Amino acid sequence: MEWKQAMVLNPPFPKNYANEFLMLKKGKGSWLWDVKGKKYLDMTAGIAVNALGHGNKKIARIAKKQMKKLIHVSNLYTTAPAVRLAQRLVAQGDFVAVHFGSSGSEANETALKYARIYSKKHKGDSAFKILSFDGSFHGRTMGALAATATAKYRKGYEPMPEGFIIKPFNDMESLKVLDEKFAAVILEPLQGEGGLNPGEREFAQELQKICKEKNILIIADEIQSGLGRTGTFLASEQLGLFPDIVCLSKPLAAGLPLSATLIPQRVNDCINVGDHGTTFGGGPVTTSVANFVLDNIIPPKKLDEVQRKGQFLEMLLNKLIEDLGLKAQVKGLGLLRGIALEDENQAASIGNIIVKARENGLLVLRAGSNVIRLAPAFVITEKQLRLGVDILKETIKEILL
Ligand code: PLP
Repeated sequence: MEWKQAMVLNPPFPKNYANEFLMLKKGKGSWLWDVKGKKYLDMTAGIAVNALGHGNKKIARIAKKQMKKLIHVSNLYTTAPAVRLAQRLVAQGDFVAVHFGSSGSEANETALKYARIYSKKHKGDSAFKILSFDGSFHGRTMGALAATATAKYRKGYEPMPEGFIIKPFNDMESLKVLDEKFAAVILEPLQGEGGLNPGEREFAQELQKICKEKNILIIADEIQSGLGRTGTFLASEQLGLFPDIVCLSKPLAAGLPLSATLIPQRVNDCINVGDHGTTFGGGPVTTSVANFVLDNIIPPKKLDEVQRKGQFLEMLLNKLIEDLGLKAQVKGLGLLRGIALEDENQAASIGNIIVKARENGLLVLRAGSNVIRLAPAFVITEKQLRLGVDILKETIKEILL
């Protein structure tokens, strides 16, 4: 079907989404084209998903080849790509098993369920509490939502499942709440949706110490920050944090739905057949693609490349702030970066900046209440980063100055 308009109004999607969508047609690397042929520099990468860019022919070939053989077999059986991917993921740390799912929320939900099973077995039925932190976003399913701090996401869906406690992030006082009744602490080492707030090293160390003493599991939600986006395989590494359970998703299968919950021996020892499951998680198509993604993310020279591009982007953003005389600061790590506008009135215009940037041919995101977030593909070039920041600069000038 040919579409006459690039902006589609009120398609039959539920009202939880916007009522106006840009209709995209194709992409290549960090470029996207809408149905009218207008070109955009994409610094959203499908919200930190398309790490290897758009229109990658190798990915299409891998998926096609696998689809011709087998598309789905259920979790009653398995396939070579799924086993290979699981082996490679557990080898990234002190893990022995991976539960595959289809979304970030599902990965966190799985982690929370496993943590409760573990805790109840070791500490009794009353040890089910979960601690999470202000600024966190863990997903939209009920368990992940109960751990999500932003009140507006939870509003209207109460009552939340029992036992979820939310405390200030990076505040040692928050950790005083932890006792043996806690099953787990879930955190994003670099908060994505909440505004690109990094966890602090001392906080992570103290958390680690208390959790060890009280046999509480640490769940790292690395759904947005993991798989190389911050320049290390996990962002946890940069805090000196060694999580017991790690949740991965967004870029794992280059845009196909796949998530992974990585667990250690002591957790796996508490799980029995039938305790948890899923229909689509870990199918042969998504896992074949994910093996290719890992080839392009794990090697140290690939991680270094993200670090280097991230530092370049940080430099460009600092220069933008200086050139425009903004009251703002650069936040984030690696290729998950943003400009936090410190003036409330200016921050209130972020929505307008995003719309204007799109009109100017640049796609960017928001995070928290005051951050313009950039999460480009890892394959973005320095020239494209420069172009993107130039367009952003002109856009901010048009809207704010
Ligand atoms: N956790 C984090 C850190 C995320 O950024 C997201 C999504 O943005 C999720 C969980 C939820 O993932 P999904 O939307 O795939 O369920």
